[in-house]
Amino acid sequence: MAVTPRASLDLIADNCTSCMLCIRACPVWCMELDAHLEVRQEGARKRSTLHLDRFRIDYRTCMMCGLCVDICPFDALEWSAEAPEPVFEWTAVPQDGEPHA
Ligand code: SF4
Ligand code: SF4
Repeated sequence: MAVTPRASLDLIADNCTSCMLCIRACPVWCMELDAHLEVRQEGARKRSTLHLDRFRIDYRTCMMCGLCVDICPFDALEWSAEAPEPVFEWTAVPQDGEPHA
């Protein structure tokens, strides 16, 4: 079985539901996440969904413990062999061209 070296973390943003489990699990608080709530009408019901706006990992304090990878229920975090920048930041591209408030 191939083993990926634990050099950095990759975010698969399409899988992330902004559930915050990884943020709460991180023992050194080096992850941050911003999301916004979208509410839409589906027939008689209103359905709300969280959308990821920004995801940040500060590798200056990350211990590469893997708790965030293990706890993610949606396989949105995975190990990468790429050497990390000091801070990894993923930011959503707004579909309407306007930044979210
Ligand atoms: S690998 Fe560990 S220390 Fe690094 S971001 Fe994930 S939970 Fe936090
Ligand atoms: S645990 Fe996974 S799905 Fe939840 S916020 Fe973290 S990366 Fe996203």
